[in-house]
Amino acid sequence: MYMVEMASQIIWRKRENVLSYFSKGFLLRAAVVSVLLIHSNLLKRKNGMKKVVLILVDGMRPDSLALCGNPFVKEMEAHSAYTLKGQTVMPSVTLPCHMSLFHSVTPQRHGILTNTYVPQVRPIRGICEVMKAAGKKSALFYNWEELKDLARPGSLCYANFAAGHDYGYEEANKILTANVIPFLKTGIADFTFLYLGWTDEAGHAKGWMGEEYLRSVDESFKCIEAVCRSLSDDYLVVLTADHGGHERSHGTDKPEDMTIPILFYHPSFSSKDLGDAAIIDIAPTITSVMGVAADGDWEGKALEI
Ligand SMILES: [Zn+2]
Repeated sequence: MYMVEMASQIIWRKRENVLSYFSKGFLLRAAVVSVLLIHSNLLKRKNGMKKVVLILVDGMRPDSLALCGNPFVKEMEAHSAYTLKGQTVMPSVTLPCHMSLFHSVTPQRHGILTNTYVPQVRPIRGICEVMKAAGKKSALFYNWEELKDLARPGSLCYANFAAGHDYGYEEANKILTANVIPFLKTGIADFTFLYLGWTDEAGHAKGWMGEEYLRSVDESFKCIEAVCRSLSDDYLVVLTADHGGHERSHGTDKPEDMTIPILFYHPSFSSKDLGDAAIIDIAPTITSVMGVAADGDWEGKALEI
């Protein structure tokens, strides 16, 4: 009986201590708890993004986003860390720019200066090789065959090619989009690249910023929206272009050719200006988000998204 009374007194004292603990420092402790909760939400968001989809719209100028009339543009920008003043590399040509995107160095370093691939003299690892070394899986979806050399043999888990010159790029964009959505739902790959080639073809055929070109940007955003709406919160979406264009060409150092959009989209993000981001910053930003170390030879910087 004595033991029971002692035990109940100890419990009562503990209750008193607990009550005074809360009454004395309640506001302070509530503040601490709130900060911890907010912090854990941030952690949850960052930890939630374990996978990346990189979408590239060939030759998509940043000023075409507002003019193409697609309503998903505004929604995407509202939930992106982004810039419409991103800079690509010289020459502003498709394969050299893609090599710089994947290898985070300028063409002067990787040595691919035209749309014809040549083996690198001083080989540098690209994003797919870095992912592979970190035990992660990569996949490519593309409709321009020269991009097959973006990843070295042994670094991919999946590739899907639909020839734009056979199907027509408008149709080939739709085929790839229809294929990539169920693939992304499986969650097999950690890094997936989706290339949409129609805009560049429309620019060369009818002129950059013309009616056909803007329609191709609008249609590309329909593909982008379909991909974004199909994704779980695991995915960060990166949207960019390899270069812009003027009249019916590109490849120069004119601002119209060199300026590209760069967006990092997640439904939980607030809009944020990325300022002077460059195409070579995209690979290190992607590896940073995924907790993978950037290659030591990469020259771009991880952006604060
Ligand atoms: Zn082109």
